[in-house]
Amino acid sequence: MHMMMNRGPRILHRCSAALLALVVFLLVGARIGPWAPDARAQDLRAKNVILLIPDGMGEALVLATRYWRVGRDGQLEMDRLPVFGLVTTHAENSLVTDSAAAGTALATGTRTNNRALAQTPAGASTLDRSILMLAKRAGKSAGLVTEVQITHATPAPFAASVRDRGMMNEIAEQYLANRVDVLLGGGESNFRAAGAPGVHCTADATKRGGRDLMAEVAAAGYQVITGRAALLAAPAPRGRLIGLFACEHMAWATKPVATEPTSAEKTRKAIEILARNPNGFFLMVERGKIDWAVEANNAEESLAETLEFDKAVGVAMEFARADGNTLVIVVADHEAGGLHIISRPDRGPVEAAGLVDDRGRTRTPRRGATFKSADGLDIHLAWATHPGHTAHPVGVRAYGPGSDIVRGFTGRQHLTDVYEVMRRAFFGSAR
Ligand SMILES: [Zn+2]
Repeated sequence: MHMMMNRGPRILHRCSAALLALVVFLLVGARIGPWAPDARAQDLRAKNVILLIPDGMGEALVLATRYWRVGRDGQLEMDRLPVFGLVTTHAENSLVTDSAAAGTALATGTRTNNRALAQTPAGASTLDRSILMLAKRAGKSAGLVTEVQITHATPAPFAASVRDRGMMNEIAEQYLANRVDVLLGGGESNFRAAGAPGVHCTADATKRGGRDLMAEVAAAGYQVITGRAALLAAPAPRGRLIGLFACEHMAWATKPVATEPTSAEKTRKAIEILARNPNGFFLMVERGKIDWAVEANNAEESLAETLEFDKAVGVAMEFARADGNTLVIVVADHEAGGLHIISRPDRGPVEAAGLVDDRGRTRTPRRGATFKSADGLDIHLAWATHPGHTAHPVGVRAYGPGSDIVRGFTGRQHLTDVYEVMRRAFFGSAR
Protein backbone atom coordinates (compact mmCIF):
# COMPACT_ATOMS: atom_id res chain seq x y z
CA MET A 1 0.00 0.00 0.00
CA HIS A 2 2.75 2.33 0.95
CA MET A 3 4.63 1.56 -2.25
CA MET A 4 1.47 2.02 -4.31
CA MET A 5 0.95 5.45 -2.82
CA ASN A 6 4.49 6.43 -3.63
CA ARG A 7 4.23 5.23 -7.19
CA GLY A 8 1.63 7.83 -8.15
CA PRO A 9 3.79 10.96 -8.15
CA ARG A 10 6.68 8.98 -9.67
CA ILE A 11 4.49 7.98 -12.60
CA LEU A 12 3.33 11.56 -12.89
CA HIS A 13 6.93 12.68 -12.90
CA ARG A 14 7.77 10.16 -15.58
CA CYS A 15 4.74 11.23 -17.58
CA SER A 16 5.69 14.89 -17.46
CA ALA A 17 9.26 14.02 -18.44
CA ALA A 18 7.94 12.05 -21.39
CA LEU A 19 5.63 14.91 -22.27
CA LEU A 20 8.53 17.34 -22.11
CA ALA A 21 10.59 15.05 -24.30
CA LEU A 22 7.69 14.86 -26.75
CA VAL A 23 7.34 18.65 -26.84
CA VAL A 24 11.09 19.04 -27.38
CA PHE A 25 11.01 16.38 -30.08
CA LEU A 26 8.10 18.06 -31.83
CA LEU A 27 9.79 21.46 -31.71
CA VAL A 28 13.18 20.20 -32.83
CA GLY A 29 11.62 17.70 -35.18
CA ALA A 30 9.60 20.44 -36.83
CA ARG A 31 12.73 22.51 -37.27
CA ILE A 32 14.69 19.81 -39.01
CA GLY A 33 11.71 18.43 -40.95
CA PRO A 34 11.35 18.68 -44.71
CA TRP A 35 9.73 22.13 -44.55
CA ALA A 36 12.46 23.54 -42.30
CA PRO A 37 12.82 27.31 -42.02
CA ASP A 38 15.77 29.10 -43.58
CA ALA A 39 18.02 28.59 -40.54
CA ARG A 40 18.35 24.93 -41.47
CA ALA A 41 17.97 25.32 -45.24
CA GLN A 42 21.73 25.13 -45.69
CA ASP A 43 21.62 21.46 -44.73
CA LEU A 44 19.14 20.77 -47.51
CA ARG A 45 21.13 22.42 -50.25
CA ALA A 46 22.54 20.40 -53.14
CA LYS A 47 25.49 21.43 -55.27
CA ASN A 48 24.29 19.31 -58.18
CA VAL A 49 20.88 18.16 -59.39
CA ILE A 50 20.36 15.25 -61.78
CA LEU A 51 16.79 14.92 -63.06
CA LEU A 52 16.04 11.70 -64.94
CA ILE A 53 12.78 11.54 -66.91
CA PRO A 54 11.46 8.19 -68.15
CA ASP A 55 9.00 9.62 -70.68
CA GLY A 56 5.59 7.97 -70.31
CA MET A 57 6.60 5.50 -67.58
CA GLY A 58 3.79 4.73 -65.14
CA GLU A 59 4.10 2.69 -61.97
CA ALA A 60 2.63 -0.42 -63.66
CA LEU A 61 5.57 -0.31 -66.05
CA VAL A 62 8.04 0.00 -63.16
CA LEU A 63 6.34 -3.02 -61.59
CA ALA A 64 6.33 -5.04 -64.83
CA THR A 65 10.00 -4.24 -65.46
CA ARG A 66 10.92 -5.23 -61.90
CA TYR A 67 8.96 -8.52 -62.09
CA TRP A 68 10.48 -9.31 -65.47
CA ARG A 69 14.07 -8.41 -64.71
CA VAL A 70 14.68 -9.03 -61.01
CA GLY A 71 11.50 -10.68 -59.67
CA ARG A 72 9.10 -9.69 -56.94
CA ASP A 73 11.72 -9.04 -54.28
CA GLY A 74 14.45 -7.72 -56.54
CA GLN A 75 15.57 -4.14 -56.99
CA LEU A 76 15.92 -2.06 -60.10
CA GLU A 77 18.40 0.82 -59.99
CA MET A 78 15.50 3.24 -59.53
CA ASP A 79 14.33 1.21 -56.53
CA ARG A 80 17.51 2.23 -54.74
CA LEU A 81 16.34 5.82 -54.43
CA PRO A 82 15.01 5.81 -50.86
CA VAL A 83 12.35 8.53 -51.07
CA PHE A 84 9.08 8.06 -52.97
CA GLY A 85 6.03 10.20 -53.64
CA LEU A 86 3.21 10.58 -56.17
CA VAL A 87 2.34 13.58 -58.33
CA THR A 88 -0.37 14.52 -60.81
CA THR A 89 0.62 15.59 -64.32
CA HIS A 90 -2.33 17.57 -65.78
CA ALA A 91 -1.83 20.47 -68.17
CA GLU A 92 -3.62 23.82 -67.95
CA ASN A 93 -6.06 23.01 -70.76
CA SER A 94 -6.29 19.22 -70.40
CA LEU A 95 -6.33 16.62 -67.65
CA VAL A 96 -4.09 14.52 -69.88
CA THR A 97 -0.83 16.31 -70.54
CA ASP A 98 1.52 16.03 -73.47
CA SER A 99 5.29 16.02 -73.05
CA ALA A 100 5.54 19.76 -73.79
CA ALA A 101 3.27 20.96 -70.98
CA ALA A 102 4.69 18.30 -68.64
CA GLY A 103 8.26 19.26 -69.54
CA THR A 104 7.38 22.91 -68.93
CA ALA A 105 5.99 22.01 -65.49
CA LEU A 106 9.17 20.17 -64.52
CA ALA A 107 11.56 22.68 -66.10
CA THR A 108 9.96 25.97 -65.06
CA GLY A 109 7.42 25.10 -62.36
CA THR A 110 4.53 26.55 -64.36
CA ARG A 111 1.43 24.86 -65.74
CA THR A 112 0.68 25.52 -69.38
CA ASN A 113 -1.30 24.26 -72.36
CA ASN A 114 -0.33 21.18 -74.31
CA ARG A 115 2.25 21.84 -77.05
CA ALA A 116 3.64 24.99 -75.34
CA LEU A 117 7.27 24.97 -74.19
CA ALA A 118 8.39 27.28 -71.35
CA GLN A 119 5.53 29.65 -72.10
CA THR A 120 2.30 30.51 -70.32
CA PRO A 121 -0.99 29.77 -72.12
CA ALA A 122 -0.97 33.49 -73.06
CA GLY A 123 2.44 33.11 -74.69
CA ALA A 124 4.69 34.77 -72.10
CA SER A 125 8.07 33.10 -71.68
CA THR A 126 8.74 31.32 -68.39
CA LEU A 127 12.27 30.38 -69.42
CA ASP A 128 13.84 32.71 -66.84
CA ARG A 129 12.38 30.36 -64.20
CA SER A 130 13.90 27.26 -65.81
CA ILE A 131 15.91 25.24 -63.32
CA LEU A 132 18.61 24.87 -65.97
CA MET A 133 18.73 28.63 -66.64
CA LEU A 134 18.78 29.40 -62.91
CA ALA A 135 21.68 26.98 -62.50
CA LYS A 136 23.57 28.64 -65.36
CA ARG A 137 22.95 32.08 -63.84
CA ALA A 138 24.39 30.81 -60.55
CA GLY A 139 27.61 29.83 -62.30
CA LYS A 140 26.82 26.14 -62.58
CA SER A 141 27.14 24.04 -65.73
CA ALA A 142 24.14 22.41 -67.40
CA GLY A 143 23.43 19.52 -69.71
CA LEU A 144 20.60 17.83 -71.60
CA VAL A 145 20.74 14.15 -72.59
CA THR A 146 18.22 12.09 -74.55
CA GLU A 147 18.09 9.45 -77.27
CA VAL A 148 15.30 11.08 -79.30
CA GLN A 149 15.82 14.45 -80.96
CA ILE A 150 17.65 16.71 -78.51
CA THR A 151 15.14 19.40 -79.54
CA HIS A 152 12.17 17.20 -78.53
CA ALA A 153 9.44 18.33 -76.13
CA THR A 154 10.93 16.96 -72.90
CA PRO A 155 14.42 18.50 -72.99
CA ALA A 156 13.35 21.67 -74.84
CA PRO A 157 11.62 23.72 -72.09
CA PHE A 158 14.73 23.58 -69.91
CA ALA A 159 16.59 25.86 -72.33
CA ALA A 160 14.15 27.13 -74.97
CA SER A 161 10.83 28.95 -75.07
CA VAL A 162 8.54 28.47 -78.08
CA ARG A 163 4.77 28.45 -78.50
CA ASP A 164 4.70 25.04 -80.20
CA ARG A 165 6.81 21.93 -79.67
CA GLY A 166 7.17 21.46 -83.42
CA MET A 167 9.45 24.53 -83.67
CA MET A 168 12.59 22.42 -83.32
CA ASN A 169 14.82 24.65 -85.47
CA GLU A 170 14.16 27.57 -83.11
CA ILE A 171 14.75 25.30 -80.12
CA ALA A 172 18.18 24.31 -81.49
CA GLU A 173 19.10 27.98 -81.91
CA GLN A 174 18.06 28.82 -78.36
CA TYR A 175 20.10 25.90 -76.95
CA LEU A 176 23.24 27.40 -78.47
CA ALA A 177 22.32 30.98 -77.56
CA ASN A 178 21.76 29.87 -73.96
CA ARG A 179 25.07 28.01 -73.94
CA VAL A 180 23.82 24.66 -72.63
CA ASP A 181 27.17 23.09 -71.81
CA VAL A 182 26.46 19.48 -72.78
CA LEU A 183 23.94 18.39 -75.43
CA LEU A 184 23.83 14.67 -76.21
CA GLY A 185 21.14 12.98 -78.28
CA GLY A 186 19.65 12.60 -81.74
CA GLY A 187 18.27 15.26 -84.05
CA GLU A 188 21.09 16.45 -86.31
CA SER A 189 18.38 17.38 -88.83
CA ASN A 190 17.41 20.52 -86.90
CA PHE A 191 21.00 21.75 -86.82
CA ARG A 192 21.75 21.33 -90.55
CA ALA A 193 20.78 23.56 -93.48
CA ALA A 194 18.03 22.03 -95.61
CA GLY A 195 19.29 20.36 -98.74
CA ALA A 196 22.84 19.84 -97.45
CA PRO A 197 23.70 16.42 -96.04
CA GLY A 198 24.93 16.07 -92.48
CA VAL A 199 26.95 13.34 -90.82
CA HIS A 200 23.85 11.22 -90.18
CA CYS A 201 21.29 13.01 -92.37
CA THR A 202 20.86 12.66 -96.09
CA ALA A 203 20.36 15.91 -98.03
CA ASP A 204 16.58 15.48 -98.08
CA ALA A 205 16.37 14.96 -94.29
CA THR A 206 17.98 18.21 -93.13
CA LYS A 207 15.49 20.82 -92.03
CA ARG A 208 16.93 24.26 -91.46
CA GLY A 209 16.12 27.03 -93.92
CA GLY A 210 19.49 28.16 -95.22
CA ARG A 211 21.37 28.41 -91.95
CA ASP A 212 23.70 25.59 -90.88
CA LEU A 213 23.81 25.76 -87.11
CA MET A 214 26.70 23.28 -86.93
CA ALA A 215 28.85 25.92 -88.63
CA GLU A 216 28.20 28.17 -85.60
CA VAL A 217 28.81 25.77 -82.75
CA ALA A 218 32.60 26.13 -82.74
CA ALA A 219 32.24 29.89 -82.29
CA ALA A 220 29.91 29.15 -79.37
CA GLY A 221 32.69 27.11 -77.74
CA TYR A 222 31.41 23.62 -78.52
CA GLN A 223 33.33 20.55 -79.47
CA VAL A 224 31.34 18.36 -81.83
CA ILE A 225 31.20 14.58 -81.75
CA THR A 226 29.10 12.30 -83.89
CA GLY A 227 29.80 8.77 -82.71
CA ARG A 228 30.10 6.49 -79.71
CA ALA A 229 33.88 5.96 -79.92
CA ALA A 230 34.56 9.71 -79.78
CA LEU A 231 32.22 10.09 -76.81
CA LEU A 232 33.85 7.27 -74.87
CA ALA A 233 37.39 8.37 -75.68
CA ALA A 234 39.25 9.54 -72.61
CA PRO A 235 39.87 12.22 -71.57
CA ALA A 236 36.51 13.81 -72.27
CA PRO A 237 36.54 17.02 -74.29
CA ARG A 238 37.01 20.14 -72.17
CA GLY A 239 34.53 22.98 -72.43
CA ARG A 240 31.14 22.64 -74.11
CA LEU A 241 30.18 19.50 -75.95
CA ILE A 242 27.51 18.71 -78.50
CA GLY A 243 27.05 15.11 -79.54
CA LEU A 244 24.41 14.34 -82.16
CA PHE A 245 24.37 10.63 -82.88
CA ALA A 246 21.44 10.33 -85.32
CA CYS A 247 19.62 12.39 -87.91
CA GLU A 248 16.37 12.06 -85.94
CA HIS A 249 16.05 9.61 -83.06
CA MET A 250 18.62 7.07 -81.93
CA ALA A 251 18.13 3.29 -81.92
CA TRP A 252 15.61 1.31 -79.91
CA ALA A 253 16.99 -0.55 -76.91
CA THR A 254 15.90 -3.82 -78.55
CA LYS A 255 17.98 -3.02 -81.66
CA PRO A 256 21.17 -1.34 -80.43
CA VAL A 257 23.53 0.26 -82.96
CA ALA A 258 27.26 -0.10 -82.22
CA THR A 259 28.09 3.47 -83.28
CA GLU A 260 25.56 4.98 -80.86
CA PRO A 261 26.26 5.44 -77.14
CA THR A 262 23.75 4.03 -74.66
CA SER A 263 21.78 6.26 -72.28
CA ALA A 264 24.08 5.12 -69.47
CA GLU A 265 27.20 6.02 -71.47
CA LYS A 266 25.87 9.45 -72.37
CA THR A 267 24.89 10.07 -68.74
CA ARG A 268 28.33 9.04 -67.49
CA LYS A 269 30.16 11.32 -69.93
CA ALA A 270 27.82 14.25 -69.29
CA ILE A 271 28.43 13.97 -65.54
CA GLU A 272 32.18 13.66 -66.08
CA ILE A 273 32.26 16.92 -68.05
CA LEU A 274 29.75 18.88 -65.96
CA ALA A 275 31.27 17.86 -62.61
CA ARG A 276 34.45 19.76 -63.49
CA ASN A 277 32.64 22.97 -62.60
CA PRO A 278 33.43 23.69 -58.91
CA ASN A 279 30.08 25.51 -58.64
CA GLY A 280 28.16 22.35 -59.54
CA PHE A 281 25.76 21.42 -62.33
CA PHE A 282 22.24 20.63 -63.45
CA LEU A 283 21.71 17.63 -65.72
CA MET A 284 18.48 16.36 -67.29
CA VAL A 285 18.49 12.85 -68.74
CA GLU A 286 15.47 11.68 -70.71
CA ARG A 287 14.57 8.29 -72.20
CA GLY A 288 11.99 9.41 -74.75
CA LYS A 289 11.29 6.07 -76.39
CA ILE A 290 9.66 4.60 -73.31
CA ASP A 291 6.72 6.81 -74.27
CA TRP A 292 6.81 5.73 -77.90
CA ALA A 293 6.89 2.06 -76.87
CA VAL A 294 4.00 2.27 -74.42
CA GLU A 295 1.97 4.39 -76.80
CA ALA A 296 2.45 1.69 -79.42
CA ASN A 297 1.37 -0.88 -76.78
CA ASN A 298 4.60 -2.73 -77.51
CA ALA A 299 5.35 -4.74 -74.37
CA GLU A 300 8.81 -5.97 -75.37
CA GLU A 301 10.07 -2.51 -76.24
CA SER A 302 8.38 -0.92 -73.21
CA LEU A 303 10.30 -3.23 -70.88
CA ALA A 304 13.58 -2.92 -72.80
CA GLU A 305 13.38 0.88 -72.95
CA THR A 306 12.61 1.09 -69.23
CA LEU A 307 15.56 -1.14 -68.43
CA GLU A 308 17.82 0.99 -70.64
CA PHE A 309 16.66 4.07 -68.74
CA ASP A 310 17.21 2.29 -65.43
CA LYS A 311 20.88 1.78 -66.25
CA ALA A 312 21.27 5.55 -66.64
CA VAL A 313 19.70 5.94 -63.18
CA GLY A 314 22.39 3.56 -61.91
CA VAL A 315 25.13 5.81 -63.32
CA ALA A 316 23.59 8.91 -61.75
CA MET A 317 23.26 7.16 -58.38
CA GLU A 318 26.83 5.89 -58.50
CA PHE A 319 28.03 9.48 -58.89
CA ALA A 320 25.61 10.87 -56.29
CA ARG A 321 26.58 8.32 -53.64
CA ALA A 322 30.27 9.09 -54.05
CA ASP A 323 29.68 12.84 -54.29
CA GLY A 324 27.28 13.22 -51.34
CA ASN A 325 26.19 16.62 -52.57
CA THR A 326 23.88 15.69 -55.42
CA LEU A 327 20.09 15.54 -55.50
CA VAL A 328 18.85 12.80 -57.86
CA ILE A 329 15.21 12.81 -58.93
CA VAL A 330 13.51 10.23 -61.15
CA VAL A 331 10.04 11.26 -62.33
CA ALA A 332 8.03 10.52 -65.46
CA ASP A 333 6.35 13.43 -67.22
CA HIS A 334 3.11 11.40 -67.48
CA GLU A 335 1.85 7.86 -67.86
CA ALA A 336 1.10 6.54 -71.34
CA GLY A 337 -0.70 3.51 -72.70
CA GLY A 338 -2.75 2.94 -69.56
CA LEU A 339 -0.77 -0.18 -68.74
CA HIS A 340 -2.19 -2.84 -66.43
CA ILE A 341 -0.90 -6.11 -65.03
CA ILE A 342 -3.90 -8.47 -65.12
CA SER A 343 -4.76 -11.97 -63.97
CA ARG A 344 -5.43 -13.62 -67.35
CA PRO A 345 -4.71 -12.49 -70.88
CA ASP A 346 -8.34 -13.15 -71.92
CA ARG A 347 -9.58 -10.76 -69.23
CA GLY A 348 -7.99 -7.62 -70.63
CA PRO A 349 -9.79 -4.37 -71.36
CA VAL A 350 -12.72 -4.73 -73.76
CA GLU A 351 -11.44 -4.08 -77.24
CA ALA A 352 -12.80 -0.94 -78.79
CA ALA A 353 -13.18 -2.70 -82.13
CA GLY A 354 -13.90 -0.40 -85.02
CA LEU A 355 -13.25 2.76 -83.02
CA VAL A 356 -12.26 5.44 -85.52
CA ASP A 357 -9.99 8.27 -84.41
CA ASP A 358 -10.08 11.90 -85.57
CA ARG A 359 -7.79 11.09 -88.48
CA GLY A 360 -10.07 8.36 -89.74
CA ARG A 361 -7.84 5.51 -88.59
CA THR A 362 -9.27 2.47 -86.88
CA ARG A 363 -7.76 2.20 -83.44
CA THR A 364 -7.88 -1.08 -81.60
CA PRO A 365 -6.00 -1.45 -78.32
CA ARG A 366 -3.63 -4.35 -78.56
CA ARG A 367 -4.52 -7.47 -76.59
CA GLY A 368 -1.44 -7.19 -74.47
CA ALA A 369 1.34 -9.67 -73.97
CA THR A 370 2.51 -12.31 -71.54
CA PHE A 371 6.03 -12.49 -70.13
CA LYS A 372 7.68 -14.61 -67.47
CA SER A 373 8.83 -12.90 -64.31
CA ALA A 374 12.38 -13.53 -63.04
CA ASP A 375 10.78 -15.80 -60.43
CA GLY A 376 8.86 -17.81 -63.01
CA LEU A 377 5.37 -16.28 -62.77
CA ASP A 378 3.25 -14.99 -65.64
CA ILE A 379 3.16 -11.23 -66.23
CA HIS A 380 0.03 -10.52 -68.29
CA LEU A 381 0.07 -6.98 -69.64
CA ALA A 382 -2.93 -5.11 -71.02
CA TRP A 383 -3.32 -1.55 -72.28
CA ALA A 384 -6.15 0.95 -71.99
CA THR A 385 -5.26 3.40 -74.76
CA HIS A 386 -3.58 3.22 -78.16
CA PRO A 387 -1.95 5.53 -78.78
CA GLY A 388 -2.19 8.03 -75.99
CA HIS A 389 -1.25 9.33 -72.58
CA THR A 390 -3.29 9.05 -69.39
CA ALA A 391 -3.81 11.22 -66.31
CA HIS A 392 -2.52 8.50 -63.96
CA PRO A 393 -0.37 9.95 -61.17
CA VAL A 394 3.33 9.18 -61.58
CA GLY A 395 5.93 8.21 -59.01
CA VAL A 396 8.70 10.55 -57.89
CA ARG A 397 11.87 8.89 -56.63
CA ALA A 398 14.53 10.95 -54.91
CA TYR A 399 17.93 10.69 -53.25
CA GLY A 400 20.28 13.19 -51.69
CA PRO A 401 20.12 16.64 -50.10
CA GLY A 402 16.66 18.18 -50.38
CA SER A 403 14.98 14.87 -51.26
CA ASP A 404 13.00 14.54 -48.01
CA ILE A 405 10.33 16.97 -49.21
CA VAL A 406 9.18 14.32 -51.68
CA ARG A 407 7.98 12.19 -48.73
CA GLY A 408 5.09 14.63 -48.45
CA PHE A 409 4.02 14.09 -52.06
CA THR A 410 0.85 12.12 -51.39
CA GLY A 411 -0.64 12.29 -54.87
CA ARG A 412 -2.19 15.75 -54.70
CA GLN A 413 1.07 17.44 -55.63
CA HIS A 414 1.91 18.17 -59.26
CA LEU A 415 4.96 18.07 -61.54
CA THR A 416 5.41 21.78 -60.75
CA ASP A 417 6.11 20.79 -57.13
CA VAL A 418 8.99 18.60 -58.30
CA TYR A 419 10.45 21.75 -59.87
CA GLU A 420 10.15 23.44 -56.46
CA VAL A 421 12.08 20.59 -54.83
CA MET A 422 14.97 21.13 -57.26
CA ARG A 423 14.87 24.93 -56.98
CA ARG A 424 14.84 24.70 -53.20
CA ALA A 425 17.73 22.24 -53.18
CA PHE A 426 19.82 24.59 -55.30
CA PHE A 427 18.86 27.95 -53.83
CA GLY A 428 17.00 27.44 -50.54
CA SER A 429 13.53 28.78 -49.91
CA ALA A 430 14.28 32.35 -51.04
CA ARG A 431 13.09 33.03 -54.56
ZN1 LIG B 1 6.17 12.53 -72.57
